[in-house]
Amino acid sequence: MSALYIHIPFCKTRCNYCDFYKSTSCDNVERYVEALFREMDYQRDFLRMHPVKTLYFGGGTPSLLAPAYLQRIKERAAEMWDLTQLEEVTVEINPDDATDEYLDDLSRIGVNRISFGVQSFIDRDLRFMGRRHTAAQAVDAIGRARNRGFDNISVDLIFGIPGMSLMEWEGNILKALMLGVQHISAYHLTIADDTVFGRMAASGELVPVDEEVSEEQYMRCHQMLTEVGFEHYEISNYALGRQRRSQHNMSYWNGDLYLGLGPSAHSYTGSKRIMVVNDLEKYIAGAGTRNIYGTELLSSSDTYNEFIMTSLRTSDGIQRDRMAAKFGFKGLLYFEYTAERLVDEGLLVMEDNAYKIPPEKFIISNSIISDLFYIEA
Ligand code: SF4
Repeated sequence: MSALYIHIPFCKTRCNYCDFYKSTSCDNVERYVEALFREMDYQRDFLRMHPVKTLYFGGGTPSLLAPAYLQRIKERAAEMWDLTQLEEVTVEINPDDATDEYLDDLSRIGVNRISFGVQSFIDRDLRFMGRRHTAAQAVDAIGRARNRGFDNISVDLIFGIPGMSLMEWEGNILKALMLGVQHISAYHLTIADDTVFGRMAASGELVPVDEEVSEEQYMRCHQMLTEVGFEHYEISNYALGRQRRSQHNMSYWNGDLYLGLGPSAHSYTGSKRIMVVNDLEKYIAGAGTRNIYGTELLSSSDTYNEFIMTSLRTSDGIQRDRMAAKFGFKGLLYFEYTAERLVDEGLLVMEDNAYKIPPEKFIISNSIISDLFYIEA
């Protein structure tokens, strides 16, 4: 089984923290979709013999595209690849795009999972981050989606926002719970160099929150959501039951085959990673040829380290039998040797024949994971 990602590289405005690739002009939508079809043709063999289990429209802002475009893209994908076993079709939506008509159209074309870029239910924070929707629009959008029959709704929330108190963060989580969503992605605000926030931080106008504040908000989210039955199944992700996990993102973390189409998208085969050019004009000019791709061949130590990293991000952890099947008994022995100290220190636990980072230690997962990497001499 495999996963298919389609990047929609358009946004109406640029959020102050965002360094994803996108264009703020929608003039090129038709040319973009034609280029996407050329890329699909070019990549026709990539998923041959691998039925697609999940389809994900991400961005950018996929909800800027009329549903008719999404439908055409899905139909074209079905001509190229085996979509008969498709289980999950996700669209990322900006709350102010979610009209009843739009949601009904999505439902008609087979979308069964919605991911709302809410970020906060506090207007002050939405304005600060440069989001174009209001808290009331976010509440309204989620209610509409539920009323239109969607029962797999995810919201993105951001913590670690300067000026947001712990109580306000708790209020955001509570609001999402009261709105009856089935999935929450909780991310820390990132301050990347080439963004408005990056420049504000460089000039001293924006001061990132202290580490203790971040940890307190992270842990509070973990406590509140797990207390009401959400599974903390990945560092930043919570689902109401296993079947409400993002199946698409699980494919990434499980190291399954995936194909990403559109500017800045990535694909993965197990032995190589392919990156599409991060520029819309270059993409449109080169789609359908090899000129838009960069390729990274993965050595066996890259593959091993990647497996450690992606598996330990999830609550399923590193299953011993999967590790042995992938890297042999020697690989498993090496891992267990390096893991011993971390187990003694309580940073890794062994459960159900798998090594896991306890969810309350997810926040320091980067340092735990890097201690387990294989470094070639
Ligand atoms: S809507 Fe999303 S992709 Fe677009 S600028 Fe904002 S954060 Fe970035």
